Amino acid sequence: MKNPLYDNLFGVHAENDDPFLYLIDGKTITYRQFLAASGRIANTLVGKGLEPGDCVAIQVEKSPEMLNIYAACAQAGLVFLPLNPSYTVDELKYFIKNSEARLIICDEKNKDDLTTIAQKFDILIETLNQDSTGSIIEKAKSSPEGFETVARSKDDLAALLYTSGTTGKSKGAMLTQTNLLSNGNVLMTEWQFTNNDVLLHALPLFHTHGLFVATNVMLAAGGSLIFLPKFNLDDIIKNLPKSSAMMGVPTFYTRLLADNRFNRKLVKHMRLFVSGSAPLLSETHIQFEKLTGHRILERYGMTETNMNTSNPYKGERRAGTVGFPLPGVDLKITSPETGKEISVDEIGQIEVRGPNVFKGYWKMPEKTKAELRENGFFITGDLGKIDNDGYIHIVGRDKDLIISGGFNIYPKELEVFLDKQLGVLESAVIGVPHGDFGETPIAIIVPSSGLQPDLYKIEKNIKKSIARYKHPSKIITVSELPRNAMGKVQKNLLRNKYNFLFKK
Ligand code: AMP
Repeated sequence: MKNPLYDNLFGVHAENDDPFLYLIDGKTITYRQFLAASGRIANTLVGKGLEPGDCVAIQVEKSPEMLNIYAACAQAGLVFLPLNPSYTVDELKYFIKNSEARLIICDEKNKDDLTTIAQKFDILIETLNQDSTGSIIEKAKSSPEGFETVARSKDDLAALLYTSGTTGKSKGAMLTQTNLLSNGNVLMTEWQFTNNDVLLHALPLFHTHGLFVATNVMLAAGGSLIFLPKFNLDDIIKNLPKSSAMMGVPTFYTRLLADNRFNRKLVKHMRLFVSGSAPLLSETHIQFEKLTGHRILERYGMTETNMNTSNPYKGERRAGTVGFPLPGVDLKITSPETGKEISVDEIGQIEVRGPNVFKGYWKMPEKTKAELRENGFFITGDLGKIDNDGYIHIVGRDKDLIISGGFNIYPKELEVFLDKQLGVLESAVIGVPHGDFGETPIAIIVPSSGLQPDLYKIEKNIKKSIARYKHPSKIITVSELPRNAMGKVQKNLLRNKYNFLFKK
């Protein structure tokens, strides 16, 4: 096989006239049309001097062309690096510098800011807008469709996806051709996707869930995507009758349950609802089944590993659990102190190994060494247990990660920022339950002696420098933080105190 990822997921469809994307404006893009457009983009990218192994960063709103660029990168042997559109200029500087990307593709509206960064780091810049316009599209129009697929080996990098880091710096997870391809194939088989399926796709494309789980599975199966720009209840309700499956974060499901148009009749024909990226409350699982008769299938994965576990397609989908390891995935629970495997029902760190597990962190050999053992097991940073029936439960996040609406927020990043604000001595950021987002961050700050921090100014600074989804929903001033005997801040006490704030 010349280029395993491209040949298996994309190339096989070169002569396929079945629909690949159903767009919100009523248009349909067939596989053949999609690949012709991708080929033109691949020619454009190579025409700009990009070579196999070069990285293409892209910060745009979700669009079919963004998927074309993913396909073009796979075909030309380039490394695809999607970035959250809500990242600020300050955040982008870091990603561009750290990734050593050769090209950034951005929305026209951010072009001025990004041109400054591109000049600083000497990289190329092109634009792509959500309405399918932009400089890359213009150039692609005059490029040929036919593109000679570049040979790649299974361990070559296909994508670089940044995760948030506990120290405030994101880490680039190096994902190989095999990582992506093996997971796409396993999930297709486990969840029984075929070319008859129509998947309702309302997830973003800069994250592993919408980009790889949803898209690669459907490419592997040859099915179609109803491709929505974002999660919008009206569009979801309108398109559910035309879909056979849906993938979402728990927030999607809680929002659907709260809408009185969502009922058993609307989803009677559906084959599958999948949830992941954050814990699905047992309550939601149960309520969903009561209303619709469907049991949501919950799975567990992460940027570095793709998907690791899944509840069974056939068999009991157990609420509050993430099911069993996927075929090919070894999973064990180990003691954080000794690293040794511990007994059934005991809580420890979740470690995984398999073809889905990434190659390491880009340019961070120390971090790679600390988290990826020599025997191939990756220490996920999640805490969990395996029960007597073999179901895996995730009980907490080792790194104090906050997951809001499916997006990760590392408290440390916000704390470092807050501590630098005028009049702030120290801070603690915690996640509290939120009726809509699952969790939301709040910040607890301690003023420097004799000073009164200006909360309005701090909020303004946050808005300027930090992506919106990470903004604390509330900033609370206290005289001191609770600490244990070892001097550690007792975040559990803070959570208990403030957990009522955003519950519905
Ligand atoms: P990300 O890298 O953004 O995909 O986030 C990965 C993290 O999300 C994991 O390490 C888990 O902490 C969390 N996560 C993903 N799926 C689930 C799930 N089904 N239940 C609980 N936590 C989950």
